Amino acid sequence: MQVRCPACGEVRELADQDFGSNDRLTFPCAACGKMMQVVSPKVQTLRIDTTRQNIPAIKEEKSLEGQRLYLPSDREITLKVLEGDEKGTIYLLAKPRTLIGRANTDILLDDRSASRLHCAIEVGEAGIVLRDLGSTNGTLVNDVPVSVSSLVNGSTFRVGSQLFQLNITPK
Ligand SMILES: [Zn+2]
Repeated sequence: MQVRCPACGEVRELADQDFGSNDRLTFPCAACGKMMQVVSPKVQTLRIDTTRQNIPAIKEEKSLEGQRLYLPSDREITLKVLEGDEKGTIYLLAKPRTLIGRANTDILLDDRSASRLHCAIEVGEAGIVLRDLGSTNGTLVNDVPVSVSSLVNGSTFRVGSQLFQLNITPK
């Protein structure tokens, strides 16, 4: 996977084995020295597989509108935290539907202002879609609560105190 320094934009290539048995890797940017933290995509995959019974049943393969969900084979999609307690953390999307929230989600936030099941990122034939899942405080795009919103490279959205940025990079 490729990760991009939140401070200066320097790109670094990470292999699965770089994580060893660790869930997260913390290292200084080679260009600017700022510390970066990256969560292993394996951990996210493992978490969803072991906690699925606690998540409301949502079909993995299709969106609510019936569109096919799949990850592109030639691009990597990451979420970078620009603001909040997890600032600097980069998540690689490892599934066509990634759940974000405070409990039993792929991306797990330790944030009281986030709902347990807050929102989802869906990737597929409709492009990349941010979907609020009935959160208490809302999923915000440009400070406006949205129920469904299309995301493109560089789009940002807020979940609780975290501001996420979507990034698409060639593999
Ligand atoms: Zn840097």
